[in-house]
Amino acid sequence: MRIVALAGGIGGARFLRGLQAAAPEAEITVIGNTGDDISLFGLRVCPDLDTVMYTLGGGINEEQGWGRAGETFAVKEELGAYGVGPGWFGLGDRDFATHIVRTQMLEAGYKLSAVTEALCDRWKPGVRLIPMTDDQVETHVVVDDPERGRRAIHFQEWWVRLRASVPAESIAAVGAEDAKPAPGVLAAIGDADVVLLPPSNPVVSVGTILAVPGVRDAVAAKTVVGVSPIIGGAPVRGMADACLTAIGVETSARAVAEYYGADLLDGWLVDEADAGVEVDGIEVRSRPLLMSDPDATAAIAGAALDLARELAAGAAGTAGAAGEDAR
Ligand code: GDP
Ligand code: CA
Repeated sequence: MRIVALAGGIGGARFLRGLQAAAPEAEITVIGNTGDDISLFGLRVCPDLDTVMYTLGGGINEEQGWGRAGETFAVKEELGAYGVGPGWFGLGDRDFATHIVRTQMLEAGYKLSAVTEALCDRWKPGVRLIPMTDDQVETHVVVDDPERGRRAIHFQEWWVRLRASVPAESIAAVGAEDAKPAPGVLAAIGDADVVLLPPSNPVVSVGTILAVPGVRDAVAAKTVVGVSPIIGGAPVRGMADACLTAIGVETSARAVAEYYGADLLDGWLVDEADAGVEVDGIEVRSRPLLMSDPDATAAIAGAALDLARELAAGAAGTAGAAGEDAR
């Protein structure tokens, strides 16, 4: 079975680990969000790709969900002693090495997809990890900063420095319209038996991947099942509600499914707290959706696959029946 998943960082990576446990024989391709990428201290940092790579490769700080296990912060402290920031973005010493290798390879002319493959040679995440694009796409947020007035800032500055405490007036994936899917992205989607949307941020993670021209249409042609990141009207962890509000989408499992659209989604898993939710044109199932431990997470991934298989079989049945009618 060939599975493609569109993933952001923490939520995506945890789900993927469950997916590997639920489908150990499957060939999994992960299309990673790069809209959160940022250049710091002259280094290219790809938070979502790294979170997936470290989580599946056994190097993640489990409690935090991002960054390396056993991390130290000597370089950051030394930079701070020179008055060199930003201090609000946590880059540890071990993590720095990843960004140095990446930047060196990018400067030598390698594309981000090739660099990511090289980094994964070390981590062996057990999936094929491809950035959504090799082109630069950066998510920017327009805020009315009480101190500095109305301006557009990098997503990371809004998310990490301001903790999304200032409302976003708008969110834009700058560069997305002109970006091309990275080599292998459209082929992997085309070859997939099922495409899964993990409980990643629907706006700035999955939404950004879908904004790369060609990706949404390729995904929509497949059997697609998503897992709601919203449970009982609230994001389970983090501040995804701030992103939904910014684009005028209600923070609810139903509204997120409608935002993805019935042209894209075939099946939608919602939590038991949202049992009874119905969305036109989408098969909705409820079950516990808290990724509280590896077993619970594997069961969620397994349920997503079961629903996908069922919907794919149904679609094949319908096509077969239509074919017979024609005869
Ligand atoms: P990313 O978008 O994958 O980078 O990851 P985030 O860590 O920002 O998480 C994305 C979303 O996943 C959050 O907005 C939460 O709403 C959702 N989320 C986090 N933990 C869980 C969980 O245990 N279950 C479900 N269903 N959603 C979760
Ligand atoms: Ca992210």
